Amino acid sequence: MKIVIIGNGKSGQAAARLAALLGYSQQIVTDDSAASPQSCFGDADLAVISPGVVPQRSGLYAAARQSGVELISELEFAARHFTGPCLAITGTNGKTTTTELTAHLLTALGVPACAAGNIGLPLSDLAADVQSGLRPAATLPVIEVSSFQLEHCRDFAPLAAVILNIESDHLDRYNNSMELYTAAKYRIFDHVPPENRIFGLAMHQPYPALFELRGDGIFRQGKCLINPADTHLNAAHNRENLLAALELIGRVVPPERCFEPVFQAALREFQTGRHRMERIPGTGNLLCINDSKATNPAAVAAALDSLITPGVRNVHLLLGGLDKAMDFALLAKYGPAIRAAYLFGECRHKIYRTLEAHLFCREFDDFDTAVVAAANAAVDGEIILLSPACASMDLFRNYQERGDRFCALIHQLLAN
Ligand code: ADP
Repeated sequence: MKIVIIGNGKSGQAAARLAALLGYSQQIVTDDSAASPQSCFGDADLAVISPGVVPQRSGLYAAARQSGVELISELEFAARHFTGPCLAITGTNGKTTTTELTAHLLTALGVPACAAGNIGLPLSDLAADVQSGLRPAATLPVIEVSSFQLEHCRDFAPLAAVILNIESDHLDRYNNSMELYTAAKYRIFDHVPPENRIFGLAMHQPYPALFELRGDGIFRQGKCLINPADTHLNAAHNRENLLAALELIGRVVPPERCFEPVFQAALREFQTGRHRMERIPGTGNLLCINDSKATNPAAVAAALDSLITPGVRNVHLLLGGLDKAMDFALLAKYGPAIRAAYLFGECRHKIYRTLEAHLFCREFDDFDTAVVAAANAAVDGEIILLSPACASMDLFRNYQERGDRFCALIHQLLAN
């Protein structure tokens, strides 16, 4: 069996590792290195595409399609080598939080769950770890799934899956079409039994729910499981993630186990990862928030919804970066809460054009100057929020570097 892997990033390398362990002959090819894409797939039995490869721009993708070889995503390839159940999570926002939370809570119950997929540990690496005895055979993958991986799935069959929300993002990869992007996301349900197809609250889609969020609590058959205010997940968007995680967990273990003290303790201790609504300490009466992971307008809306007080205009919002053919108009309604928006990065002009009638917008040639301007303008009681609504790669290596730079500047400018 010969496998040709398109893309040499983390996922491509993980697929090669798994293929080698399985005794397949394997080769990694990239669009930069392949002199003649057409010759790459002649004797291949399977082509595996990494999520970072953009089909519209890849000669290798076109050649693989033309050759007639079976072409699947790295996720599909890895999933074929798990025998037990897995859980899957997709959506525009909240995937990482929900994936980490689900794995954390299942682990507390003694289930050997492991977060994988689009979260830093490619599913192929997890499969290879299991194959080589580095992890237990009963490992339950909790998989963060991107629409890119779903595009090339065929038999991927999670026990249960959730679509958290679908908002304007990545439209550059979908011919500016929300329909195509949405269709890719829905493929997560292709082989999931209807009773295990879960929707985030933002989807407003009915499904057979095990838990209910009402008033001050999450309830199971009339009994209160937890008040989100007693967790670090009390913001509206994180309540949605919490509910989705519980729904997934209730498909793997009896839902009543969520009442066990060890589960409750795990619920109370969980915190979202860095760069997601991260409060920067030591800034006195100014609230400074690093939300660098907010790479689309809907994530910024979630941040603002959790921070603003009606009737109070106190937010200094740092916005900008690399566009993904997104619609920023969603942010216009926050005008009354925003003192100023400080725009930086490649798509600052587009954001300016979209929002200047609704928010006081200022444009800056570089990131640091924008942060300095916000820090100079903000007074006690106000909020400085980096929630950029865009990808970071025009100015930074990744969102982490952008968030770290923001934190460092804020410390330098405002630490008391
Ligand atoms: P993803 O993995 O989908 O990018 P993360 O959990 O890393 O999701 O969060 C990314 C950004 O989206 C952060 O700014 C976070 O505050 C925001 N966010 C998290 N969950 C949601 C949600 N359910 N709805 C809207 N925004 C969310």
